[in-house]
Amino acid sequence: MKKDEVRCLGIECTAHTYGASVVSSSGRILSDVKDIYKPPEGRGIHPRECAQHHSEVGLRVVKEALREAEVKLEEVDVIAFSAGPGLGPCLRTGATLARALASLLGKPLVRVNHAIGHIEIARLTTGVEDPLIVLVSGGHTVITTYVDGRYRVYGETLDITLGNLLDMFARGAGLPSPGGPLVEELALKGSVVYELPYVVKGNDISYSGLLTASLKRLRSGAKLEDLCLSIQEHAFSMLAEATERALAFTEKKALLLTGGVAANRRLRKVLSQVAQEQNASFHVVPAKYAGDCGAQIAWTGILHYLHGDVSPLEESYVKPKWRLDEVDVPWRGKG
Ligand code: ATP
Repeated sequence: MKKDEVRCLGIECTAHTYGASVVSSSGRILSDVKDIYKPPEGRGIHPRECAQHHSEVGLRVVKEALREAEVKLEEVDVIAFSAGPGLGPCLRTGATLARALASLLGKPLVRVNHAIGHIEIARLTTGVEDPLIVLVSGGHTVITTYVDGRYRVYGETLDITLGNLLDMFARGAGLPSPGGPLVEELALKGSVVYELPYVVKGNDISYSGLLTASLKRLRSGAKLEDLCLSIQEHAFSMLAEATERALAFTEKKALLLTGGVAANRRLRKVLSQVAQEQNASFHVVPAKYAGDCGAQIAWTGILHYLHGDVSPLEESYVKPKWRLDEVDVPWRGKG
């Protein structure tokens, strides 16, 4: 550890995952610990029950992250927490612990936008400087890149996210949560691609019609494996179409896939082909950091802190509907 290296404790708690991590300003991820709330089978996340889970596990997860990093609490220089977007009751559990630690230790506090966390951990772990980014998760489906001080949106979902589509379909089919990985496995056994709604408006995508039509087909006896294949092919093609247009428009030479759905091998294949067609390199966040984790918050917390962007306690509120294009990202410089 260099003398002037800064260490940040990051707390993630936007939805199902309570995560904590210590990351250094040289980009070393010293620990990454998580405890994930699992809703009862057949149900989505209930915000209050999820927040209850987070309150129960929060302190233990933070202690484990410090132990794994071999860092004492008083050796932490900055405390960061995910302030949004996310489920209000869940966000407040992390914010409360982060505020308590920051005031107890007299350390600076940083509010991190969770979507920017997904992007920055992907940039750190892949080493890609200036990509077009496709962020696909339970809370996001967005195509974005950095321009003039902020991440700007070049296409997004108009209704539900890609993660929601897969999870809600899986729930409708009686599969356990999270549904995305199961849909991927079942799709490998499918052989028929049904015609389903394919909706791209401008450069935005709509998945709700695809969900409704797929559930309707399921109820009328279509084979589950074929439907999983059909949903993936439609949903991924829509995203690929919008991504290809955004790549052509922005002329970026790299495409970066991040967020929990980035784990899907078929989606990677489809988007890597798009990148190839547009003469761009293709990169995917490592599986360990694809889903929600403390490391994304700790690293982004460092970036904010190094640019003097810290929050006084009285302004350290959460923001459940915080868009990524509302956040200044001074560390990217001129774009
Ligand atoms: P956000 O990060 O935007 O707040 P979140 O917390 O739900 O949303 P993540 O943890 O990043 O998101 O991702 C979870 C999503 O990823 C779920 O919808 C899950 O089904 C999906 N997912 C995980 N693995 C796969 C896979 N192999 N194929 C498809 N989807 C997957």
